[in-house]
Amino acid sequence: MSDLEAHLAARIRAGGPLRVSEFMAEALLNPTHGYYTTRDPLGAAGDFTTAPEISQMFGEMIGLCLAQSWLDQGHPARFALAELGPGRGTLMADILRATRAVPGFTEAATLHLVEASPPLRAAQRATLGEEVTWHDSIDTLPEDRALFLVANEFFDALPIRQFLRSGPGWRERLVGLEDESLRFGLGDLLAQPALHHRLADTQEGDLVEICPQAAPIMAAIGTRIEAQGGVGIVIDYGDWRSLGDTLQAMRAHEKVAPLEAPGTADLTAHVDFEALANATPSAHSRLTPQGVFLERLGITARAQALAKGLSGAALESHIAAHRRLTHPEEMGNLFKTLAVYPTDATPPPGFEA
Ligand code: SAH
Repeated sequence: MSDLEAHLAARIRAGGPLRVSEFMAEALLNPTHGYYTTRDPLGAAGDFTTAPEISQMFGEMIGLCLAQSWLDQGHPARFALAELGPGRGTLMADILRATRAVPGFTEAATLHLVEASPPLRAAQRATLGEEVTWHDSIDTLPEDRALFLVANEFFDALPIRQFLRSGPGWRERLVGLEDESLRFGLGDLLAQPALHHRLADTQEGDLVEICPQAAPIMAAIGTRIEAQGGVGIVIDYGDWRSLGDTLQAMRAHEKVAPLEAPGTADLTAHVDFEALANATPSAHSRLTPQGVFLERLGITARAQALAKGLSGAALESHIAAHRRLTHPEEMGNLFKTLAVYPTDATPPPGFEA
């Protein structure tokens, strides 16, 4: 048994089975043994890869989207350029490089990164330098200026709870102990007011997920953007409404069992974009597949321009990266984008009204 498994077993013995969200929070962010607390998980040598690590074009398109929104909103003289869960800082570095040609944009920006992982904060410092303010949560982001924010594969890392439909109510999926090993089980049948709207579209045995932290974060971002201006762009895998078990563990680019060796694999769940959209009082875009969003921003023209300088294996991997980001059978459709923007502003480029 690893130290984290022993800690989880002690918690279960003392207080009974854990919610999936409690298990996920410990596995990812336990202060001494958590997955993100102890490592940089990204890249070929790590456990998973992400769009900004696949190609610089991803961050370039997001940068152009943010800069055009900034211009459309009257290029405010001071704004917070913020990212939630910035990984290695690659996306932000690409955003900054792509927007350098937009007069005044970089000068008006102060950089704010919300990051829980010490090793990833160090990686971000190495990529982006010291002119950055790090935050433990969105609560300390500046409130006195416009907020231009991006979150790629952040919301999927937030802990979820899972519920199995049972007659007129729900039984929560829990993590307990059996023969000294972690095992899934089910809690008592309860009414769940937060899931009332799901009684109509679920059947006996269906599983639904909720992410308790997601809506409050989105609501706070939306409120700030409505009051101060700006745009929030969320990119993640998921769909309009959650249905089914999407809890997934990845180690060395392979799916593994979520309860196996907690703290040594990434844990994620699909994002319920309906819950994010409903949390924002200000305007939000229609949910847009990542591939459509990137195509509208001109990723193919950019890919062709970059291809001119490449040959051989570098050209092949560039073409594969473009396909991976945009093709419906790769990330193009599984990943979705949603933007929140002020009610009186035009939607950011790449998003439908
Ligand atoms: N956006 C990056 C990394 C995605 S991995 C990319 O696309 O490459 C998830 C990121 O969210 C990591 O940086 C992780 O440390 C961070 N993270 C996860 N849970 C968090 C939390 N509760 N608060 C702040 N950051 C968190």
